[in-house]
Amino acid sequence: MVLSGPSGVGKSTIARALQERLNAQFSVSMTTRPKSPQEEHGVHYHFVDEARFHRALEEDALLEHARVFDHWYGTPRKPIEEAVDAGALMVLEIDIEGGIQVRERYPKAFQIFILPPANEVLIKRLRGRGREGEEAIQRRFKEHEKEIARAKACGVYDEFVVNDEVEKTIDTVVRLIETRRGS
Ligand code: 5GP
Repeated sequence: MVLSGPSGVGKSTIARALQERLNAQFSVSMTTRPKSPQEEHGVHYHFVDEARFHRALEEDALLEHARVFDHWYGTPRKPIEEAVDAGALMVLEIDIEGGIQVRERYPKAFQIFILPPANEVLIKRLRGRGREGEEAIQRRFKEHEKEIARAKACGVYDEFVVNDEVEKTIDTVVRLIETRRGS
């Protein structure tokens, strides 16, 4: 399944809960973005340089890819194919451009877009992460409204869920996935 939404909306928290509640597996993306001190190579991302990323593209090793905030991000193809073959639930935390590409390649993949409850809440969460400086936070924040409009217009998201209270959001997402899988 695909989980998209503006930066800081709470996707990672939801994805972690899906791991616990539904035994979901995470796709670990490849990125050219610098690693932050809180992140671990191979866990949050495979942090690579531009040359390595472009080699992966040439080798057709990425299922989808996109440039987000000046850096490349992509989903390694092999783990997804293996998980799909094994019938496992795989969570891809990716942007809209990636969601559009996944819809083309896996039309049956369930795609959820998480919406922030209000602008003030989103900016507070971005600051609370303490990962970027104020300038980067403002930039990401400005992008988010454009992003939400695009998500609604592109037509690849099956559900839009407002992350008001995270526990309730998780329950909603779990229920949606279970309904979709027919369990
Ligand atoms: P961050 O740098 O905050 O971890 O991620 C920035 C954005 O890139 C988020 O919207 C995230 O969903 C998206 N992203 C992360 N990995 C991938 C990926 O493999 N493919 C695509 N298309 N987007 C990704």
